Formats: sequence, C-alpha cells, structure tokens
Amino acid sequence: MTDPKQKPRRILVTSALPYANGAIHLGHLVEYIQTDIWVRFQRMQGHEVHYVGADDTHGTPVMLRADAEGITPEQLIEHVWKEHDRDFRNFSVGFDNFYSTNKPENEALCAEIYGKLKDAGLIATRSVEQFYDPVKAMFLPDRYIKGECPKCGAKDQYGDSCEVCGATYAPTDLKNPYSTVSGAKPERRQSEHYFFKLSDPRCEAFLREFTQKSGALQPEAANKMKEWLGEPGDSKLSDWDISRDAPYFGFAIPGTDGKKFFYVWLDAPVGYFGSFIHHVRSKGMDEKLLQDFLRPGGDTELVHFIGKDILYFHALFWPAMLQHAGFRTPTRIFAHGFLTVNGEKMSKSRGTFITAGSYIEQGLNPEWLRYYYAAKLNPTMEDIDLNLEDFVARVNSDLVGKYVNIASRAATFLAKYFENKLCESTNNITTEHVSAAWSVEIEDEVARAYENREYGRAIRSIMAFADKTNQYFDSNKPWELAKSGTDSDMKRLHWICSETISAFYRLTIFLKPVLPQLAKKAEKFLNTPSLEWADLENRPVEIGKYEHLMTRVEPKQIEALVAANRESLKPAAKPAAAKTTEKTVETATETSTISIDDFSKIDLRVARIANAEHVEGADKLLRLTLDVGALGSKQVFAGIKSAYDPEALKGRLTVMVANLAPRKMKFGMSEGMVLAASGETPGLYILSPDSGAQPGMRIK
Ligand SMILES: [Zn+2]
Repeated sequence: MTDPKQKPRRILVTSALPYANGAIHLGHLVEYIQTDIWVRFQRMQGHEVHYVGADDTHGTPVMLRADAEGITPEQLIEHVWKEHDRDFRNFSVGFDNFYSTNKPENEALCAEIYGKLKDAGLIATRSVEQFYDPVKAMFLPDRYIKGECPKCGAKDQYGDSCEVCGATYAPTDLKNPYSTVSGAKPERRQSEHYFFKLSDPRCEAFLREFTQKSGALQPEAANKMKEWLGEPGDSKLSDWDISRDAPYFGFAIPGTDGKKFFYVWLDAPVGYFGSFIHHVRSKGMDEKLLQDFLRPGGDTELVHFIGKDILYFHALFWPAMLQHAGFRTPTRIFAHGFLTVNGEKMSKSRGTFITAGSYIEQGLNPEWLRYYYAAKLNPTMEDIDLNLEDFVARVNSDLVGKYVNIASRAATFLAKYFENKLCESTNNITTEHVSAAWSVEIEDEVARAYENREYGRAIRSIMAFADKTNQYFDSNKPWELAKSGTDSDMKRLHWICSETISAFYRLTIFLKPVLPQLAKKAEKFLNTPSLEWADLENRPVEIGKYEHLMTRVEPKQIEALVAANRESLKPAAKPAAAKTTEKTVETATETSTISIDDFSKIDLRVARIANAEHVEGADKLLRLTLDVGALGSKQVFAGIKSAYDPEALKGRLTVMVANLAPRKMKFGMSEGMVLAASGETPGLYILSPDSGAQPGMRIK
C-alpha cells in the first residue's frame, strides 16, 4: 500500500460517468460520495488531485428517449446535465470539471485512438447479423426486442431471458418478436461492423500483465479477470464490436461517410480524458499537465472509481485501448458493490428508489447520507445496505450525540467563565488527560483507512475517539468544578474544556473528508482557517460563539422521503439506466395506498362496444371498437377471447381506461383498456355500468 504521508503525489481521479437519460439516485451516490471522500482526504494530505467526470451522453437509449419526448438528443442531454450537476453540488461531490462526452475534446481523442489502433493493425471489419426495425429504419440492440418465451409462451419477454419461467435463450429464439420501439416485426439484416482485436496476442499479453501483475485491481477483481481471460494459449478474449450503424447518437467513425458510429462504450471512458483536457485548458493551466497525466512515462497516478458491473469495460477494453494508442494506463481501478435499501433491491413500489433530487426536496441533510455511506463502505465489491432505521439511529447517535455534543458542552463553560479562550497547551497543570486518544496511532490508523478506502474502519476509530473524549469530559465533572469556584478548580475546569475543544478540533479534521459542510461550520466556531491534515499538530486558541452545528434526523422525515418516492400509478420519469443494464425491470406487485389525486389521474369512461371481432393470428385477443361518446371511437385489443363470443359483446356497455398511452401492438394500435375481473379460478368478467349510463360518462 502507498504510504499516505509520502509527498507529493499527483493523482487524476474519476468516477464512472452517469448516463444522460435519467436522474441521479441514492445508488449512484454510493460511488460519487466514495470518490469525493477519497479526493478530499488526498487534498488534505497536500497532494495534487484533479477530480473529473462527465455525463455519458451517446447511444440508442438517449436517441430514442429524445425522439419520444419530441426534442433533440442535444436538448435532452443538456437538460439532464443541469440536473446531474445540481445533484452533485447538493451532495458536495466536488468535481473540478463535470463535463459531457458529447464534446470536441472527446471526439478528437476518439479519432486519435481509433487511428492509432488501426495503424497498429488492431481494427478488423466483419459482417454481423442483427435485428432491424423496418418501420424506424434502424438496427436495434437486442433489448429493444420482445416476444413470447420459447419455453412457456409468456408474452412480452425480453430477448435474453423469461421473467415468468426463468428460461434463458437467444433473441432469435423468441416467438412472434416485435420491436419495442415501433411494434413492428423485426427483420434480420447484415451490416459491416468494426472490431477492436482484443484476441490479438499483443492485447492478450498486455491484459494478462495488467490485470494480474500491475496491482491495478483489487484481488477479487483480478480473479474475475482471470476467469474472463482464460488460460494462456486458450484465451477467451473475443474481439470487441466498436461500431454501430446510423442512425445513432454519437461520433461518426472517420472514413465511413457518417454511416458508422463509435459504440457508446468506446467513447465513454475516453470522456474521462476529454473532461481532464477541458479542465486544464478552460482554467488556463499548464499544458504540460496533459503530457504528465495522459501519456506514459510520468510519475502521476490515474485512479478510477467504478461499479462492479462495468469492471469488464474498465479492466479490459479501456486499458487495452490506451496501451496500444500511445496513452498511459490506469494505476488503480477501484470497483464497489451496489446499494440495497433495507436489505433489498431499490424498489419504486416500496419507495426505496430514491432520487438525489427528492432527498434534497424533502429537506434532508446531504451530510447525513455521506456519513452513513462512509460508515458502511469498505474496499471490497460487496453490496452495501442503507437500512433506514439504522440510518436515523446512527446519524443521531454518532454525529449529534457524540461529535457535536462535545463542542456544545465545552463551549458553554468556555463562554461563561473564560471569554471563549483556551488555556495554553504549555499550561503546567497536572491533570489526567486523554493521552491514549491523543496518540499518533489514531492519526495513522484513520489516515491509512481513508487511503485504503476502508471508510467504515476510519469512522469506527474516529467515533471511538469521540467516545473517549466524552468520557473524559464527564469523568472530570466540570459542573462540580464550576460550582466549587476555587482558583485551582477553575484552572482545572479551564484545562478540561480546552482539552475537550482541542479533541473536537482533531475530530473535525478526521471527519472533514466525509462532512465538508459541517467542517466548515466547525472551522468558523473554532476560529481557524480551512483545516488540513497537518493541523493535527495544532490546537485552537479561541472559539467563536457556539451555534447549533447539526440537527437530528426525525423518523418522520424518512417516512416522508419514502412516501414521496413511492410509485403507485403515476408513470414518473424513468430512472437513469446504466448502459450495460438498461432493461430496468419493474416488478411492482405490492398494493400500497394512493391518494385521491393519484386515482383521479385515471380517466375511466363508460363505453359502448360498437363492434367486436376475432383477430387473425391472435390466440387471446379480440379487437373492440368502443364508442366513448364525446371522446369518439377507440380501438382496443382485449385479452378476453377465451371468455367471450364477439357477437355477444356487440352493443354492451362497459368501462374503459381512456387515457392510457396508446400502444402499438403487432395487430395495430390499442388506444385504451377495458376493465375485467378475474380471480384464482378460470373465468374473466368484463364490467358493466348500471342501466341509464351513457357512453362517454366519466367514472369517479
Ligand atoms: Zn418462459
């Protein structure tokens, strides 16, 4: 491990790029907070640190979402960038530059890297067969294909696995496949693709060295890479498809007349460097930094913080690209696990899929979350759990009950009897002080833990020190000394309070990487300029007026936060989807209460079934033509064929959802939904209003 006291280090730090199609949520924040704590710690050590990030803007999901919203991809990513930037600021995630991958610096770097790889004979082309949507006139990633499970026949299953029976298969195995973009039946078409030849012996040799010997990876990550690489002479590396066909939102591949684009995963990590270049140039810093940090041979470090789901891209593709294109390779890749809430995957129906924006809107203090995450984080790839009850208890007990309490108790006496001044440390009074807690050991232990990203361990050491300080204060019974009022007791009281405030000063230094805003308030109280690690040698002279430093978390606030994030019927903004795991599957089956406002969003209407008919090729559907009075005529496909003869339905009144988003189905557009009851036993029963109801009447 690197000695944290070795100086000066020069470090370029990145966090993974959030995808530009949705909001930052508490799961994302595990990584940004983790990185930011490390960056702040290194800065306090006096090291040179550049922390950069960017929105990851390219690819099919952004293109299609912009299309669906009737805006350009540029407008979409601009809007999302503003939200992300705001969220990071609110949580004190202190990027030196938060940029975008859709920028000229990045495009130039991608072209340079591609050119070098091509010159080195590491780019190949070959024909690939892919799904093509004839209506949208575009090739579709597999996850935009749905169909019936080849095993159990369940409808609307994705192309890789069935959520009903659990079978896995290839997209081509799906029965009656359709494009989720247009509803059209996809075709299989050939297209020429560009590949980065990872199977080339040069790449393989480099990657064995990089993943196993360079020390860049955590042991568990290195092991995973070993599996992926296979045995020497029997490599499992296959070439990486780096191109996509137009239309695509991204950078055109040079020399392809705008017909081929770089796959988003090629330009995303390059965006780290693009952001760094912009950071250096926009601030008028020395251009030599670009050579020092981006090219090989220097003494700088490149440190990536990532989620374990994108290890493959960062530990294989990215370093191999850099190595063979004349750039430096990563020094360390720190992969972390995912966030669970109350022991389970974040869930919209439970209200635990919490966005950064709503956390702030509900008035919760971002530093509560920073502290809780720090207390939970370790250097492994294990998932971490945000237990909401524990969150309340831990923040209140540690930060308010232990840390803040120290300052408020000692400050009361210093203000009342000693004009806020501390006695000098050379004061010759013999008193038992907390020598163990003052030792250099704790400083080293906390510093080592931060350096190694063992934040949980750092927090435990810090809180043990806070406990000792409180015990020291209590065991000396300062209130009795003040009551006695003799000269020697007052001297002793002064000493005890001064020592206690000095301990608070040190605790503030220890906690500052985690709690930068609270530290700022404490620095004001301690009358000190911005505290650095080296200030552990110092002690405060005179305190300011004590003002309350932090409030307690109320369990009610957590209840409100969960309620605000609980999705029942409202189709809220889509969450940000990672590029690798874009098909966010919702399994919201629980019933939770809703407000009358939620209910009133559903436009229920009386409808007359003007016509009902069989649909050729559909086993379960009837095509209904509904007369909805003033709303006109609507076509609805209803899965009621097994229960009703179309002739018997004609002329009947029923109930429909009139404001359901129209959905393009294989057989045509469905413009609503007819309500029907069903239970455990077979049978399906459509609803009927009482006599006298007229088509188009609103049901409330
Ligand atoms: Zn199935």
